[in-house]
Amino acid sequence: MDEIRIRRLEVFARHGNLPEETALGQKFLISVALQCDAGRAGRSDALCDSIDYAAVSHLIKKYTEENVFHLLERLAQCLADEILLAYPAVRGIVVEVEKPWAPVMLPLETVSVRIERGWSTVYLGIGSNMGDKEKHLLEAIRLLGEDKRIRVVSRSSFLITKPVGYEEQDDFLNGAVKIETLYSPEELLEVIFQIEAALKRERTIHWGPRTIDLDILLFDDRIIQSERLTVPHREMAKRMFVLEPLCEIAPYAVHPVYGKTIERLKNELEELQ
Ligand code: ATP
Ligand code: CA
Ligand code: CA
Repeated sequence: MDEIRIRRLEVFARHGNLPEETALGQKFLISVALQCDAGRAGRSDALCDSIDYAAVSHLIKKYTEENVFHLLERLAQCLADEILLAYPAVRGIVVEVEKPWAPVMLPLETVSVRIERGWSTVYLGIGSNMGDKEKHLLEAIRLLGEDKRIRVVSRSSFLITKPVGYEEQDDFLNGAVKIETLYSPEELLEVIFQIEAALKRERTIHWGPRTIDLDILLFDDRIIQSERLTVPHREMAKRMFVLEPLCEIAPYAVHPVYGKTIERLKNELEELQ
């Protein structure tokens, strides 16, 4: 991906753990690489098609001067967030913060923290089988979009399906949603739990009736297996109520464990049924 770079912007600020550092201040050098598509600006030669590096430089200077953090990690993270949220065309960012006068009492050139952040592409499965199901699905999507670290890109149509696992319950309405997010997978799971709680989901019977269920199906091409999270979703390749709506919005997304497109997984499941 193309990059626009700002190298070693010098800012005098007060970040640090020691009282002397916050009282006296010192020099920070800030570098960023903005990942974006420079093709449009390359063709048009118009600033409005590009990312104004002068404006970004001023944003960095102002933010770094006006805030005080203990850690370079925190400063780097906040700068990344500020820039990603202010410039939607920036897909990803590398931020490096150097502190050449860090009070180490040894002859070193500099210390620094370098981080990479950006928008991830995520597919969510969404379902409801209680009350006004369509309203619940739409409300969950609205709440996702209200979060400034989430952009709702598209959604499938909603599909009526028979319950699986625990069958003594009402039919489901299922769909799939494509989002972009600045959250990590674990952070996104927390957001999902909050939305489920806001829509009064109660966890009583496993696979039982619910106002809303949100599952992370795919998170970029990442494979995650932790206590709280399995991504891609463990059951997705066996579930037509997941593959059908997902195939509508992302037929060529690739399942990173099976190495197959969603369309192919759906066709294979159809043949088994
Ligand atoms: P299923 O996961 O089989 O669709 P469910 O959605 O009914 O069942 P829940 O009660 O909603 O199950 O979630 C149980 C736990 O699953 C959650 O507490 C969460 O930590 C965990 N989990 C693991 N992987 C995922 C994922 N990819 N998306 C959402 N939750 C997940
Ligand atoms: Ca589920
Ligand atoms: Ca779930």
